[in-house]
Amino acid sequence: APATITRDLRADFPGMVTGEGKAWHYLDTAATAQKPRAVIDAMARALGEDYATVHRGVYARSAEMTLAYEAARRTIAKFIGGHEDEVVFTRGATEAINLVAQTWGRANLKAGDRILLSQLEHHSNIVPWQMVAAEVGAHIDVCPLTDDHRIDLHAAEAMLTEAHKLVALAHVSNVLGSVLDARQAAALAHKVGAKLLLDGCQSAPHMGVDVAALDCDFYVFSAHKLYGPTGIGALWARKELLADMPPYQGGGAMIDRVTFERTTYADGPQRFEAGTPAITEAIAFAAAADYVSAIGPGRIHAHEQQLVARLRRELGAMNDVTLFGPDDSAGIVSFAIDDIHPHDLGTILDESNVAIRAGHHCAQPLMDYLKVPATARASFGLYSTEADIDALIAGIARTRRIFGKG
Ligand code: PMP
Repeated sequence: APATITRDLRADFPGMVTGEGKAWHYLDTAATAQKPRAVIDAMARALGEDYATVHRGVYARSAEMTLAYEAARRTIAKFIGGHEDEVVFTRGATEAINLVAQTWGRANLKAGDRILLSQLEHHSNIVPWQMVAAEVGAHIDVCPLTDDHRIDLHAAEAMLTEAHKLVALAHVSNVLGSVLDARQAAALAHKVGAKLLLDGCQSAPHMGVDVAALDCDFYVFSAHKLYGPTGIGALWARKELLADMPPYQGGGAMIDRVTFERTTYADGPQRFEAGTPAITEAIAFAAAADYVSAIGPGRIHAHEQQLVARLRRELGAMNDVTLFGPDDSAGIVSFAIDDIHPHDLGTILDESNVAIRAGHHCAQPLMDYLKVPATARASFGLYSTEADIDALIAGIARTRRIFGKG
């Protein structure tokens, strides 16, 4: 396959223009991605002419909706190299991590056990572990970063002990873009008998993911960062782990048989999907995965790497700019400009239709480590172009002039 994207993909995305119909330089895809027409149409169809409930209809349309919902699960499983019996639909990555913490965690962690996280984790891969650790009396260890802001797996190796039951790490950092050597992390975790959870929020959209090749035990991601809708995401868990996990929430659809004396639970992913699920979102999530698969994750990765390389080169040549993260960051560039707060930069860039993110990016421990209150972050998607970088660079020059910096 050719390494670059040739078709003008922006035309697929109605959200890529401003209110006045001008090009919008959207550089906040790491927060949430714009949606292609294929996803919007799939969602509209599911809410419209195809709409019905799943799992209990005796009429044809409900039976068809059930097939579509389960086909969506198969599509998502295939997208990450897993099996459909191993994919639970959740409200997003956050809920998926909380699910693992509250079911697998409560059942498997006890006083004195240890959990290894890293310095760069998103709050959603910190707080759920703090909550379960406090409940059971487990301890959290924090793996440091290398000088070029990767999770330091040499340090992880030295820190891991038989007391560690879980290693939970970002596959790609949402702030720095640094890519974890997941296979190595899995090998280190498994050597001491721990499980590996990968937070795939920023890897699923930026690179091909194969959970079998990565050898992880849990993988979580959110649809809305993968060009799909909000309100849905997925937990992939190794079949034998899922089989032993107690249910998360009780209700309809997750049961086998209910009496007031004793209730038995459904098998497989169903056990974790209490209530009427996000039917239309699941179908649109699958449409998003199909859209990304048709373009090719490898091609998307190569396209974004070219943009990252150019932006890092140009920002790196400015002597008042600090760049964070390694050069091979996946789709994300975080930086700071001396004497200009990222929020001011973001506000001034917005006047030129350039949308970046400024803040702590839900990673306050990482900000503490970097010794900054916030960073400016430009993040790319499959629709990003050289023109977006031109606009960002021009906007930075304009901001400097407004701040009297030449
Ligand atoms: N982990 C990472 C690395 C993220 O980037 C995000 C979203 N910023 C999350 C977890 C949480 O995802 P969500 O809010 O969709 O549940």
